[in-house]
Amino acid sequence: MNCPVCGHKTKAERMDWKYRESGLDNVILKNTTVHVCDECGEKMPVIKDMPEVHKALAYAVAQHPASLTGPMFRFLRKQMKLTATEAADMLSVSKVTVSRWENSKSPIGETNDKLIRMIYIQFMQEKCGVVFKDSVRNVTASRRATKSETISVDRGLWKRTCKVNPSKVMHA
Ligand SMILES: [Zn+2]
Repeated sequence: MNCPVCGHKTKAERMDWKYRESGLDNVILKNTTVHVCDECGEKMPVIKDMPEVHKALAYAVAQHPASLTGPMFRFLRKQMKLTATEAADMLSVSKVTVSRWENSKSPIGETNDKLIRMIYIQFMQEKCGVVFKDSVRNVTASRRATKSETISVDRGLWKRTCKVNPSKVMHA
């Protein structure tokens, strides 16, 4: 393909892509095809099966060892297609509180951190029609109050995790 910035011909390379487009600043998509322009330096990733990648990413977020950041919370909420009001109702907090969490203006707190992860895991189990072993243990493990570490996602993660009829999962 040609570079949308300068029109020069690009070449495709495989690399680990820092996936800022996800809204999270700590995600690496492993082994991603990226069109690189040698002329101007523009790089354009080709992210196939975006819904699958996002499911794998949300699963990794839900089990991530660090405390949830605002953007991680928002990512889980959006994967469940919940509005801020619906998420607030589930957690018995106000919509303003959810907004403050997501904008990193107030801490989510350990209880709500675990609860939204558990809600996500349950949501995913219903979608997949399977029970994920060790998910409760991973979700309820005590969290380090550190900044989030890098989350690496490869395209096979979701398929390895959700070993059911893929067509059912894809359209869930
Ligand atoms: Zn270019």
